[in-house]
Amino acid sequence: MSIPHAHVASYYRAIRSADDTAFIGLDGRAHAEICVIGGGLAGLTTAFELARQGRRVVLIEADRIGWGASGRNAGFVSCGFAESIDAVETRVGPANARALFDLSRLGVQYVAETIIASDRRDIVAGRGALSLSRRPELKALQQRQTKMAENYGCKLDLWSRDKVASMLATSTYFDALHDPSAFQIDPLAYTALMSDRCRAAGVWIFEASPVHRIADVGAGWRVETDRGVVHCEQVVLATSAYGVLNHTYRPVDRAVLPVATYVITSEPFGERLRETIAFRGALSDRRRAGDYYRVVGGDRLLWGGRITTRRAESGRLADMLKADIRRIYPQLGDFQVDFAWSGLMGYARHKMPLIGMIRRGLWVATAFGGHGLNTTAMAGQLIASAIADQDDRWRLFAPFEATWGGGFAGRIAAQLEYWRMQVLDRAGEWRHRRGSAAGSSTVSPKRPVTSDAPTAP
Ligand SMILES: Cc1cc2nc3c(=O)[nH]c(=O)nc-3n(C[C@H](O)[C@H](O)[C@H](O)COP(=O)(O)OP(=O)(O)OC[C@H]3O[C@@H](n4cnc5c(N)ncnc54)[C@H](O)[C@@H]3O)c2cc1C
Repeated sequence: MSIPHAHVASYYRAIRSADDTAFIGLDGRAHAEICVIGGGLAGLTTAFELARQGRRVVLIEADRIGWGASGRNAGFVSCGFAESIDAVETRVGPANARALFDLSRLGVQYVAETIIASDRRDIVAGRGALSLSRRPELKALQQRQTKMAENYGCKLDLWSRDKVASMLATSTYFDALHDPSAFQIDPLAYTALMSDRCRAAGVWIFEASPVHRIADVGAGWRVETDRGVVHCEQVVLATSAYGVLNHTYRPVDRAVLPVATYVITSEPFGERLRETIAFRGALSDRRRAGDYYRVVGGDRLLWGGRITTRRAESGRLADMLKADIRRIYPQLGDFQVDFAWSGLMGYARHKMPLIGMIRRGLWVATAFGGHGLNTTAMAGQLIASAIADQDDRWRLFAPFEATWGGGFAGRIAAQLEYWRMQVLDRAGEWRHRRGSAAGSSTVSPKRPVTSDAPTAP
């Protein structure tokens, strides 16, 4: 049996008051109706929803439950997908785009209701999300606000530059869109809650058991780990980017591109931070490759950004993120980074999740990208109700099928695309600054500061 890793040394792990339940590895044979592979939020939600309906479910995790992206993300919960709703609309038309957006909203509701039903409001860390412009684009924001309200029933508030400046002491930002329906959670605590719910509903959970083979045996499926095997009728593959690293199932691995993103958490700033950032929800900027951050623990800054498709984790990234913070909020001065970690997100080529049945009895729920907190909850419900009740809403995702992500060449192409986006972002800001220097800008906020439904990476 392989030894499970401890959860990554994140801020969330440091503030956990209880030890997470540890589960034994799979040793020998097990029989189940459904075998879910992957103990992130996609796997946990699917397993829980199936067990709740009386199904016999085994869940197999390679490391610890919540060890992947689910237990270490920025904690922003909001409607939408990693792909923009405009691109979704272009692909599937307005009616299906609306139906998909409504499903993404169902995911937000699921997380909220789970927390409320479990009486674990302590998991909620903040409310509202601001998507900040780094250049004047008021008209674009107004159009976005109108479109989201009329076509998607999503109410966003437009915040003027002055209102933004009253909350954030920086001159970096202009106007912003505020999403009042968004909220933030402690993702490791939420993952532990879902694990507890699974256990209570009768899911058999095994940790430290990487699956290395999934075989169609005619009457069902055979799922193999180093020391055990599960015989089952149906399999749900929920292994995300880490599944690619574990060589879990080639047809799906080939369609998922692992993309790393980085998070740091500062030392406590005390009053300095309260004077700098008064807003207590999620903050992100509207650049194609932007920053995302929030205040945690009252006076620490949790800050994420900088995606890369290169797997090596670089210590330099903590310094780069710190420099990003100091460019926007120089008044914070020098500070210590108490926690720095990275995590892998899984992306399909089209940046939409891969959800549905890919062979008889073989389901996937993967590739949620940087927008997985609502969409994993949605996918878990969709797949469980497809298996239990023949609900076919998952077919709305059929246009976003698994196509080859391009392997090594795909990773290089994605990295180049990220750098291209960074160059475009910087060029846009530079053009604006040049215009301002030539006297074309009339905006002068008292304090320095900064999309559709805002999100993290
Ligand atoms: C740093 C960071 C910040 C983010 N911020 C946000 C945010 O603020 N809001 C948001 O909505 N989304 C965010 N995301 C994205 C979100 O976290 C993910 O989309 C989501 O958690 C994916 O869940 P998952 O269950 O698909 O994958 P994971 O949580 O990665 O879980 C997959 C699990 O499968 C297991 N596994 C893999 N292979 C095997 C195998 N062969 N056998 C058994 N088990 C296996 C892994 O060990 C892992 O535990 C962020 C991601 C990162 C990395």
